[in-house]
Amino acid sequence: MSKDILYAEELSVSFDGFKALDINHFELIEGELRVIIGPNGAGKTTFMDVICGKTKPDTGRVIMNGENLVKMKEKQIVDAGVGRKFQKPSIFPSLTVYENFMLAIRMNRSVWKSLFYKTNKAHNARIQEVARIVGLSDSMEKTAAYLSHGQKQWLEIGIVLIQDPKLLLIDEPAAGMTDEETHKTGELLMSLAGTHTIIVIEHDMEFVRQIAKTVTVLSEGKVLVEGPMEQVQNDPRVIECYLGSPE
Ligand code: ADP
Ligand code: MG
Repeated sequence: MSKDILYAEELSVSFDGFKALDINHFELIEGELRVIIGPNGAGKTTFMDVICGKTKPDTGRVIMNGENLVKMKEKQIVDAGVGRKFQKPSIFPSLTVYENFMLAIRMNRSVWKSLFYKTNKAHNARIQEVARIVGLSDSMEKTAAYLSHGQKQWLEIGIVLIQDPKLLLIDEPAAGMTDEETHKTGELLMSLAGTHTIIVIEHDMEFVRQIAKTVTVLSEGKVLVEGPMEQVQNDPRVIECYLGSPE
């Protein structure tokens, strides 16, 4: 039977009296790949910020595997198995791909602990495995600064994957990518679903169509519509909220 990995209830965030997020109910099944769409300013990034502990909500709870993430610090949330890839790159450009991965292992307490008593061989094996998953096996010795934009994004996804998160949060991965890179990213995310639960925020509708099963549409902080992509993209409420947005 499929089980919930995460649910959120009565979640609200206000910035100076402005309600940026107001989610009554949201839930994810283990192994699913959920896409969140919605016009600019809809609260998508804020929702991810709340899940990973960067922003504390005014009300509500986010329960993952029985634990309320709202009560935890960012580091504890990482240890609980939430990995977040931010929009802005945070790799070390002067280090090689391999060194970036190694640093990611060293900097993550829980991974470091689990691999600490093992040899460098174990670290190396994990790095090779993740590099293969994100398609960077042939670029290990390359300085990160010289990777293509798409490769940099895959390196970042790999750095998050190194910690083996149960829940992966990815904000606009296709932004700035070529069509080919975007397509590859879609394939990568689909290959990770099942063994990981994933939330992706994305604007690129072709990309959304490529990967989406269930789509959640946020508008003015609220869940406007949720359902299969075919249904959501033809929903008049969704069309209207996009037409009404400045984009
Ligand atoms: P999205 O990711 O859907 O484009 P955001 O979650 O970034 O939307 O923003 C939702 C709303 O909250 C926007 O109106 C934005 O200006 C506002 N907002 C987001 N973060 C902050 C913040 N730290 N301080 C004040 N307002 C914010
Ligand atoms: Mg955003």
